[in-house]
Amino acid sequence: MGQRLDGKGKMKKRTWIYIQPPTAYEISCDICSGHNITWSEFTGCIWCYDCQKDTPGSNSIFDGPIPYEVTKLLGISFDRIDLKTGKRLYMKIKDGKILWEDTPNADDTINNV
Ligand SMILES: [Zn+2]
Repeated sequence: MGQRLDGKGKMKKRTWIYIQPPTAYEISCDICSGHNITWSEFTGCIWCYDCQKDTPGSNSIFDGPIPYEVTKLLGISFDRIDLKTGKRLYMKIKDGKILWEDTPNADDTINNV
């Protein structure tokens, strides 16, 4: 465990996962094209229940520039769960930079006006 079979070096363990399942971000299994997947314990990977493998997964919305306002309308959240604390980390955009904090985004209420 922890060693990639393709020789690309050690796989890093995740410290967080996105709050929604990989399929919410249009990821599918790159081996069987299935959607019976969840986040892998390794960074940059998904776990396929059908293939029983950690695998990078298919192309997803992360591969291109993410139209943040569109994803918001679609109900896609990029909030994260810190695996150590179990706390929700909220994605925020401050001065054009994306960051995650453990307090809810006050801007969200302003946008709803
Ligand atoms: Zn698969």
